[in-house]
Amino acid sequence: MTYPRITLHQGRERSVLRRHPWLFSKAVASIDEGVKSGQQVQICVADGSFLAWGIYAEKSQITARLLSFKENEPIDDELIAARVKAACALRGPLMARGNDGVRLIAAEGDYLPGLIVDKYNDFIVLACSSYAAEAVKDTAIDTLSQIFPTASFYERSDSRSRLKEGLTARCGVISGATPPDILYVRENGQIYLPIDIKNGHKTGGYLDQRASRFKAGQLSRNARVLNCFSYTGGFGLWALKGGAKRVENVDVSGSALQHAKEGCAFNHLDPGRCRFIKEDVFAYLRAQAEKKEQYDLVILDPPKFAESQATLKKACRGYQDINRLGLQLVRPGGRLLTFSCSGLMEPSLFQKICADAALDAGVSAQVISALRQDEDHVISLPCPESFYLKGLEIAVN
Ligand code: SAH
Repeated sequence: MTYPRITLHQGRERSVLRRHPWLFSKAVASIDEGVKSGQQVQICVADGSFLAWGIYAEKSQITARLLSFKENEPIDDELIAARVKAACALRGPLMARGNDGVRLIAAEGDYLPGLIVDKYNDFIVLACSSYAAEAVKDTAIDTLSQIFPTASFYERSDSRSRLKEGLTARCGVISGATPPDILYVRENGQIYLPIDIKNGHKTGGYLDQRASRFKAGQLSRNARVLNCFSYTGGFGLWALKGGAKRVENVDVSGSALQHAKEGCAFNHLDPGRCRFIKEDVFAYLRAQAEKKEQYDLVILDPPKFAESQATLKKACRGYQDINRLGLQLVRPGGRLLTFSCSGLMEPSLFQKICADAALDAGVSAQVISALRQDEDHVISLPCPESFYLKGLEIAVN
């Protein structure tokens, strides 16, 4: 079988040779006539020789997402099934450690660009953000149903990146049962995290912070904890479990805080040690700083401030402000756990922002450990953009 070709401009093959899975439109010299979005294409250098196999997306800045770099390995059901099986096998040890919520397929990280698959108990949720994900979706579902025969499948394909690709949103049951409004999912064998598959953020919750929530638990013995951008209270639940004296959860979303409150009861944790504060984090931090309040542990897990290169500078100011305020509220000897989930924010830049924030706050601070998305959110070495969530554990002294 022959496939349509995309030929690159002279000298524009470097990123493909480095196996980066995104082929940007600027590199493209010509595209065979009649190719439609979602079709398989062969990527070629200017002289016509083979470079990679990809899936075409006409309206996207990423003209093709590349899945194979071997000429004798075009994209077919066998290749996709093998990748899905390998991705699930990789999560085996994490599941065996008492995790019933795991990311089974982490898009580029598992060589399936744009395809995210999360499993919450017996519900498997797919989020397709590219034509490439659409092209492999049915085979992925078939393979996943063989591995998890009792699972129900649900789709949450409603991300902004999907719309940029020219696809419309699609959400709903694919097969099996309808997810309940709230599902409790075991995390590291100790905490049950509230997940809202139908209406929650992402596919229902933030599995990427699993390792850092565990760390927060370890730092919380007898601590006064401030959990900013708490969502459904994951960090707060771990802090209580770890023996926190008091936990303040702050978020603008009333429904997320309601789930956090219910999550506290579900985990048999003392709601008397916990507060749920519906407020803008910036305003709350300023108010607490004015009152000279002090905490043993402050957590800052904001939403993505930088959506594009154009907004990165403004985002940096936002991160600096929030970290200055957060650092001011940590008592000497206490800790700050601070994060950025912007893929555009390099770890070194984030560390510099925190250094500036410490100067502004008038405190000296040390980095105790670097934090990152948990292991099931696999990072692709050729695609540094897949390392999106980074954080620092900072000691204030
Ligand atoms: N830490 C959470 C995930 C946080 S997601 C976890 O481990 O599950 C980011 C949260 O920030 C969302 O719940 C959103 O409602 C909240 N948010 C966004 N902007 C905010 C603001 N200015 N003030 C307070 N909360 C905000």
